[in-house]
Amino acid sequence: MAEKTLILNGTTVADGIKANLAARVAALKEKGIVPCLATILVGDDPSSATYVRMKGSACSRLGMESRRIHLGAETTTEELIAVIDGLNGDDGVHGILLQHPVPHQIDERAAFEAIAIGKDVDGVTMLGFAQNAFGMAEYPSCTPAAILAILDYYRLPMEGKHAVVVGRSPILGKPVSLMLLNRNATVTVCHSKTEGLAELVRQGDIVVAAVGKPAFIQGEWVKEGAVVLDAGYNEGNIGDVDYEACLAKASAITPVPAGVGPVTIATLLKHTVAAAERRVFQP
Ligand code: NAP
Repeated sequence: MAEKTLILNGTTVADGIKANLAARVAALKEKGIVPCLATILVGDDPSSATYVRMKGSACSRLGMESRRIHLGAETTTEELIAVIDGLNGDDGVHGILLQHPVPHQIDERAAFEAIAIGKDVDGVTMLGFAQNAFGMAEYPSCTPAAILAILDYYRLPMEGKHAVVVGRSPILGKPVSLMLLNRNATVTVCHSKTEGLAELVRQGDIVVAAVGKPAFIQGEWVKEGAVVLDAGYNEGNIGDVDYEACLAKASAITPVPAGVGPVTIATLLKHTVAAAERRVFQP
């Protein structure tokens, strides 16, 4: 095992993010505003249902409101967009989160684009993505922002490091790659058509797993002393990294659970509170 592998505790990082949120929620309530996150779940994907449930519970614990909208698996793009339009026009809703992935018949991009930019607290619209790419996003995508927050909290340097990101989804792999690039890492982005994946991962000083396949990143792919961030969450609390095998090689690693997940949720709450504040204090 690499000497004393540092376990990157997402709960600790999340607590730091949430530390001043309760006071900010209280200040908003004094003005008659309860920050509200609307979550939309389409269909019955178990991981997505878990994410949405956790986000709603986290809102309640902070004294925020959450509105959970659960639509059937047969929902059409038009029906989903109509729901999003309703939330856009609802002054009681400050943030909108459409849980990805949606069933295949839905045009996910069109649905994301329907979210008003001021309520796009997960940075999923093209404008939100572009602002993030330029390092100018008010609400960068929450999981990528969480990954950077963990690196920052533990003072793990990005500048000059080779970061290998496995996954290129528009909500995770791509934005985290751009954020790492903006922090002066040298970034390799891998995906399902990448050839020689193991060799590429082996070059990473920082490895980000965002694949959606349980225990996919193998210990023998990881360079001795690498920093491993596992964004994955699969049924049974299994990440996208073969944890025990990668623990033996890494200098620092996020566990699953209690790694990236809680920081993602804390970031989402922070963005929703900020969106509510923006409405009240800069109308
Ligand atoms: P996604 O949209 O399904 O994207 C998966 C990515 O992995 C795609 O870019 C895909 O490549 C790539 N991939 C699939 N098989 C591969 C292979 N054999 N080799 C290399 N790359 C491969 O998933 P996502 O939404 O980004 O989520 C990824 C993971 O993060 C999931 O486990 C999800 O549950 C988790 N997640 C966690 C959080 C959190 O808060 N912790 C939040 C969001 C997501 P192609 O582009 O070529 O198809």
